[in-house]
Amino acid sequence: MSVVQNNSEKSKWYLPGIFTGLGITMKHLIVNLFNKKDMVTINYPEQKYEYSARFKGNHVLTVKKDGSLRCTACMLCATNCPADCITIKAAEHNDPTVEKFPISYEIDILRCVFCGFCEEACPVDAIRMGPEWQTPALAGSNFIYDINHLAYRSTLKGGIQTCVDDEERHKAGI
Ligand code: SF4
Ligand code: SF4
Repeated sequence: MSVVQNNSEKSKWYLPGIFTGLGITMKHLIVNLFNKKDMVTINYPEQKYEYSARFKGNHVLTVKKDGSLRCTACMLCATNCPADCITIKAAEHNDPTVEKFPISYEIDILRCVFCGFCEEACPVDAIRMGPEWQTPALAGSNFIYDINHLAYRSTLKGGIQTCVDDEERHKAGI
């Protein structure tokens, strides 16, 4: 790496540089004030960016037709998570046709890198990444998303039912 030094007398005066910078700022301010529609920035939070339908935002645990969790606590999502931020506790189900279910499913969203591996790894469409991305909270503990939040938060309006029915899934050999 080479360092180019400018030792001229003019370069020792800092005021011309400051006024040049202020001039550039003022020029952009005036241009933007009279051409708001051409501005590349938006006035958040009054205006919000419309992301595509494929945007991978906050996680959703999907539910079956009866409202129970689709998740079978197979641990594939937790095993594939590169951030190690999914914690699942499995339990035996009373229904003999259901092998296991999660009594606890938590995602530490502050550690999550939103890579989508959990969604890809899930064999039963039990976890999806939805369009929500505004997730402010006041305390660190509020960033641990539990089953209540992941499957039944109010914005989901009763939960997201998967289009893959168990019977259809078994017929398709999934
Ligand atoms: S999106 Fe990636 S980092 Fe976040 S929980 Fe899923 S696998 Fe882990
Ligand atoms: S969300 Fe899917 S991959 Fe993760 S434990 Fe449940 S069934 Fe398995």
